[in-house]
Amino acid sequence: MKKWLSRGEEALMNTYNSFPVVLHSGEGVYVKDIEGKRYLDFVSGIAVNSLGYGNESFIKSVTNQLHKICHCSNLYYSQPNIEVAEKLIELSGLDKVFFCNSGAEAVEGALKLARQYGKKYKSTQAAKVIAMENSFHGRTYGALTLTGQKKYHAGFQPLLDQIQHVPFNDYSSLEQAIDDDTCAIFLELIQGEGGINMVDQDFLEQVRKLCDDKNILLIFDEVQTGIGRTGNWFAFQNFGIKPDIVTCAKGLGGGFPVGALIGNEKASRGFSPGEHASTFGGNPLAMSAVKAVLEEVEKENILPHVKEVGEYLSYRLNKLKKKYAVIKSVKGIGLIQGIEVSNMKDMKEIINKVMEEGLLLVNAGPKVIRFVPPLVTTKAQIEEGITILEVALKEVTDGS
Ligand SMILES: *Cc1c(COP(=O)(O)O)cnc(C)c1O
Repeated sequence: MKKWLSRGEEALMNTYNSFPVVLHSGEGVYVKDIEGKRYLDFVSGIAVNSLGYGNESFIKSVTNQLHKICHCSNLYYSQPNIEVAEKLIELSGLDKVFFCNSGAEAVEGALKLARQYGKKYKSTQAAKVIAMENSFHGRTYGALTLTGQKKYHAGFQPLLDQIQHVPFNDYSSLEQAIDDDTCAIFLELIQGEGGINMVDQDFLEQVRKLCDDKNILLIFDEVQTGIGRTGNWFAFQNFGIKPDIVTCAKGLGGGFPVGALIGNEKASRGFSPGEHASTFGGNPLAMSAVKAVLEEVEKENILPHVKEVGEYLSYRLNKLKKKYAVIKSVKGIGLIQGIEVSNMKDMKEIINKVMEEGLLLVNAGPKVIRFVPPLVTTKAQIEEGITILEVALKEVTDGS
């Protein structure tokens, strides 16, 4: 493994602080490294591998499509593309879909759509966009500008104009920030990278009303929370509030790189032919992966499963919180949860220790340890993970 690690360091641009592990394969909710060591995977490629590893229907769907046609560009229609769009419309209750290849690209598309909408249906100046502090929307310039965390901006200025941040869940600041030129408000219902912070129901209701009153598009970034992660298809379904546009990506393709933005009729009018495109977006191969994910989630009753297992995870984490002072709070719902610990040092120590013991976990911000296992994870596997976590918590507690 050492050899591969140094080759990786040599050949790959220095953008990631990768763990010193080379993964090789996966089965169910476990992955193996190239030396054969097995890990229970509560990261799932950062909320991506919704069906875990080696799901038969997924493999069958993608392999069948491989034999037919992988790519044809959007110059032509393809059946899988239309079928998946129709399914996403049904599941979201929205009206139109645009496919792309990643989360950032979905956010970028939503931002472009919002500004076109503003110019066409408000005024030629209506380009201003409000986003939340502590948010994360991706690394391309538009998505990066929307991201409300200074550390991601450092060194990349100048960023886009007319994007302003307000404190998350603070309605009066938001109300003050909007004006006649505001075309859109972006928010995550659960801030993922920002530390698993939940939106307040009251705030969300007020924002929805404000957007309706002022003809502002409300855009939910569900790149991390979409497609079953919270126990509903979309996180917004937990709050009973619909957006004008929703973005999704991570869990959508079950490991296949794919993204989508879904808009209601009103917002989707923003784009005219020729104004936005993606060569690979929605290609039949990617769509065969999405199709398998959506069908499996439905057929295997994965949404109620996520609710049940999520409640169990929350109950177990709260029990650990009572026992170990290093845990300050337990946050999140379904299978997107986090524990906030005392400081960054303890957080790193816990993540490294559980990895040694055969459990993968990842942070969310400087003090939160995130739990985003495959949606098919069972209670017994949660218990297995909790047992390993407790070993690390004991060690951190004894050492301090
Ligand atoms: C991960 C993430 C993105 C960016 O997705 P990429 O596929 O990495 O470009 C955008 N928004 C949210 C909420 C995310 O969690």
